[in-house]
Amino acid sequence: MRVILVVLPTLEVGRSEREAIGAARLLATAFDAEVNVALIGPAAESIAERREDVSPTSGASASTCAFLVLHPMLREYAPELYVSATEQLLTTVRPDVILFPGRTIALEIAPRLAYRLGAAIATDVIGLRAEDGAVVITKPVYGGKAHAVLVAPQPPVVICVRPRAFDPFEGDFIGERLEPIEVTLDPSSARTRIVERIREESATAVPLEEARIVVGGGRGIGGPEGFRQLEELARLLGGAIGASRAACDAGWVPASWQIGQTGKKIAPDLYVAVGISGASQHVVGISGAKCIVAINTDPRAPIFKVADLGIVEAYENIVPALIEEVKRLGAAERT
Ligand SMILES: Cc1cc2nc3c(=O)[nH]c(=O)nc-3n(C[C@H](O)[C@H](O)[C@H](O)COP(=O)(O)OP(=O)(O)OC[C@H]3O[C@@H](n4cnc5c(N)ncnc54)[C@H](O)[C@@H]3O)c2cc1C
Repeated sequence: MRVILVVLPTLEVGRSEREAIGAARLLATAFDAEVNVALIGPAAESIAERREDVSPTSGASASTCAFLVLHPMLREYAPELYVSATEQLLTTVRPDVILFPGRTIALEIAPRLAYRLGAAIATDVIGLRAEDGAVVITKPVYGGKAHAVLVAPQPPVVICVRPRAFDPFEGDFIGERLEPIEVTLDPSSARTRIVERIREESATAVPLEEARIVVGGGRGIGGPEGFRQLEELARLLGGAIGASRAACDAGWVPASWQIGQTGKKIAPDLYVAVGISGASQHVVGISGAKCIVAINTDPRAPIFKVADLGIVEAYENIVPALIEEVKRLGAAERT
């Protein structure tokens, strides 16, 4: 039987990790494969500590085996150490398909691992199926204007899924067996080390890539003050806030808010683009959005070509009214 291994280098198992497990389960049925899960880093350690209480399950669980890759040096993230730990795990598991979640650190680890294995790699994957024993991969190309369909006939193949492209697996991912894996790591191989952690203030509780609703602001917002209004709207909608590169480069908002080709790729149910022209480099980051609402003063702005609903007006005249309406609806719902 073939083996799909979902590698989860993480602090905790969140939506992105569960989406990767969901993608693996989807492929497993067509590929006649078993799914194993490998946790690396603090999440593995916390499960190992609670091992007595974590009872392996059978039947409806996500995986046949959950590997816990353990080493004190994996408490802090360093790409070289995580690649080395994953490589050592692969000598035990020998998977046909190695799946990573759509997280920034997974994108650091996966290409290095693929290079060491001499494996094929595809990132930003939105579709997976099996055909004649080969893995068939779909991913957006040309700024989301087309989809490429790639065939990986030879194992192993390394895959990073796009956030919100697959349904998350909501059940128990531990599976029938829980297996700690001890690895040996060479501290001198780590070329970077964390010297300080700066917790970024986020106006909204939901991470950008995982949010069902995203409000994005651009140069048309005019400065950091205008973004306070967008933050309030995002918070009231239970969503996250993002921005165009122009707004990030101007220093109005943190670079981590950037959506687009060189920023984050998002796929919310609703994206509200405010004061954003809709340059192709921005649009590539929102091609997975199910519904786009654009607010822009220029009726010829390219964002209206991709928007499902467009409002030609200064945001200053629209956003406060939206905030009031969302508040009113929220209050009506509570009574
Ligand atoms: C290699 C490369 C990579 C890039 N990567 C990215 C990326 O990842 N993400 C990204 O976003 N960009 C990226 N860019 C930049 C991109 O090309 C655009 O320059 C950028 O997206 C423009 O941002 P904007 O829409 O906020 O600004 P602008 O293009 O200046 O648009 C501002 C809009 O606001 C409107 N407006 C003005 N006043 C108001 C108002 N009061 N109310 C409502 N609307 C108003 C205007 O009509 C205009 O349409 C990249 C560029 C390059 C070359």
